[in-house]
Amino acid sequence: MATPLADKLRYLAGNLFWTWHPEIIGVFRDLDPDLWKQVNFSPLAFLRAIPADEIDRRSLNLNLESRINFAYHRLTEYLAAEHTWARFHAGPLNYRPVAYFSAEFGIHESLPIYSGGLGVLAGDHLKSASDLGVPLVGVGLLYHQGYFRQILNADGWQTEEYGFMPIDDLPLQPALGPDGKLLEVAVELPTGRLGARVWRAEVGRTTLLLLDSDVPGNSPSDRELTARLYGGDRRIRIRQELILGFGGLRALRACGFDPGAYHLNEGHSAFVTLERIRERMEVDGMSFDDAVRDTALHTVFTTHTPVEAGHDRFNPDLIEEHLGWLHDRLHISREQLFGLGRVNPGDGAEPFCMTILALKASRSANAVSALHGHVSRRMWNKLWPAREEREVPIGHITNGVHVHSWLSSSMIKVFERHVGERWAQRLCHRDAWEGVEKIGDLELWEAHLYEKHKLVEFARKRLADQEARRAPHDPSAPARAARALTRGALTIGFARRYATYKRATLLFRDPDRLAKILGNKQRPVQLIYAGKAHPQDDGGKRLIQHVVQLSRDPRFAGRVVFVEDYDLGVGRHMVQGVDVWLNNPVRPLEACGTSGQKVLLNGGLNMSILDGWWAEAYDGGNGFAIGTGDVHARAEVQEERDALALYDLLEKQVIPMYFDRSPEDVPVRWVARMKNAITSMAWKFNADRMVMDYLEKCYLPASGGISARMP
Ligand SMILES: *Cc1c(COP(=O)(O)O)cnc(C)c1O
Repeated sequence: MATPLADKLRYLAGNLFWTWHPEIIGVFRDLDPDLWKQVNFSPLAFLRAIPADEIDRRSLNLNLESRINFAYHRLTEYLAAEHTWARFHAGPLNYRPVAYFSAEFGIHESLPIYSGGLGVLAGDHLKSASDLGVPLVGVGLLYHQGYFRQILNADGWQTEEYGFMPIDDLPLQPALGPDGKLLEVAVELPTGRLGARVWRAEVGRTTLLLLDSDVPGNSPSDRELTARLYGGDRRIRIRQELILGFGGLRALRACGFDPGAYHLNEGHSAFVTLERIRERMEVDGMSFDDAVRDTALHTVFTTHTPVEAGHDRFNPDLIEEHLGWLHDRLHISREQLFGLGRVNPGDGAEPFCMTILALKASRSANAVSALHGHVSRRMWNKLWPAREEREVPIGHITNGVHVHSWLSSSMIKVFERHVGERWAQRLCHRDAWEGVEKIGDLELWEAHLYEKHKLVEFARKRLADQEARRAPHDPSAPARAARALTRGALTIGFARRYATYKRATLLFRDPDRLAKILGNKQRPVQLIYAGKAHPQDDGGKRLIQHVVQLSRDPRFAGRVVFVEDYDLGVGRHMVQGVDVWLNNPVRPLEACGTSGQKVLLNGGLNMSILDGWWAEAYDGGNGFAIGTGDVHARAEVQEERDALALYDLLEKQVIPMYFDRSPEDVPVRWVARMKNAITSMAWKFNADRMVMDYLEKCYLPASGGISARMP
């Protein structure tokens, strides 16, 4: 007998595969659009709300049966597929997977355990590993309150709201031990033994394990340890990292994984190396030095930031308090153990740095763009004082984005028609994208305009909600939101974390000049901003406030808008709909940046400082560069130069090109640049290429396999 439709839908809801398959999301939405919104786009909550026979009846009435069957078979075949790329390329990893450790994972907005680029990258990495069939298991933390929701008060100041994640609505299964009971792993803390529960999420073919300290046997304060991402002080932070590192490895073992390679996505998880050193010494009887060497042989590390404050450091007291037990137990000196986290092992006053631990306990380390590689080698030369800067063993693998998580459905349709059927399986091949050249200008432009209109509608809706919350009794508020933005204006997007080095307000340096640019009746321009500041970063919050105040200035009202509560969903709307993506960090502080890669896939053009990925991607005809990449020693001078370069670029190139229209109202030169952007960059700056690079340069060597391209 055929499986009932409701069971098929439940099967689809149980794997996060749906998060990058719009056709599955479409089935849920079409079954009951209002309910779909009410349950906040959670398939599990949705299915709980409708009785099974009602689902069957509606599916037949709405002609959804074949779409459900199609989606169901697509997932079953996906999970059963034998002939994945990795089957023929992953060698020994097919027997012993990669363990991928990260403090954040950004898979979908309904699972808010990410804050920014690091987490989104980790989510994209899991998805591409899944698509390629690379055996990989993610390890992270389940933050019950997640990252905060951003709400701006009447003064435009950011306030943070923490809710509780509706665990029942998420496809998380508690891991069970061999006895069939809920699995709990132990972690040593100064306050005693902490128990951590382990949750499993299936992300296509990959598994994600999430640790959670909210367990009945723990003290109330221990239960709160994993409540919030980046919400606590240094003591909470180090305990979260102990749970991630020590607990993470124990969770892998308890779930039956025996990884052949360990990947530390940023230093937060570097304590896993100490747990492996402990295992080697206590279980296999190795000496400390041999245990460090053996651990490093199987570990690879990715560093993500050239910003000093971005590197986790703990002062000596805190480290002794939390890891004193370990040197006692292993009969090694304090200096031996804590030296792994210091430039000078013997300097007891030097803080313990997680990046240094990761560098010393891994076989290879990489930065996330070519330029960031240079910066990182300079930054960490002090660990290899006898070497020249260029000999410092830190390479680079440039980040990429998971194409199907970011591409709009309009673009997917256009690509499928012109770029060829096997395009989706050949994303990393340059020639797979050549067909983009053949797309008619009008067709590509119309697909882009459709997505842009969707963005304008989305932003107006969000503005209306924001106004209603802030000024519930102001009768003019809804009309103001509805009048904001116009469809014909050149639309520039800026959405990212409001870290000060990203200079969110650079464009406001000369408000009069900006007012002239935005206010031009023949060639209107508008700006959509979004982004959160770290809860403890008042500098970042002032930048948000500055943008909001400007958006209320009569000269800018309706032309500059700030969409609150940036997350993966807001990000998706923005990268799919903007004409231009603005990125103006202080070079060289943006390690990579990935949002611009999402934009280029969708036909938006990047307008960026030559920093991070853009320094290696820009070729003169696939977007716009702000400035020349020269860096002035004085920040103030640099900022003035960058702002002038930005205004000039807008006035002399970007705006004239955008409004130079054919008789059909198509900006022909602009569309040519959109095509250039896609054909020159999409094959390279995607996460499939990134994961393949990691496999060949890092995972295979670490697992003891052979590689044609050692780092
Ligand atoms: C892509 C993305 C990021 C990272 O992009 P950057 O260019 O590094 O700022 C951060 N947050 C969200 C929600 C994203 O989607």
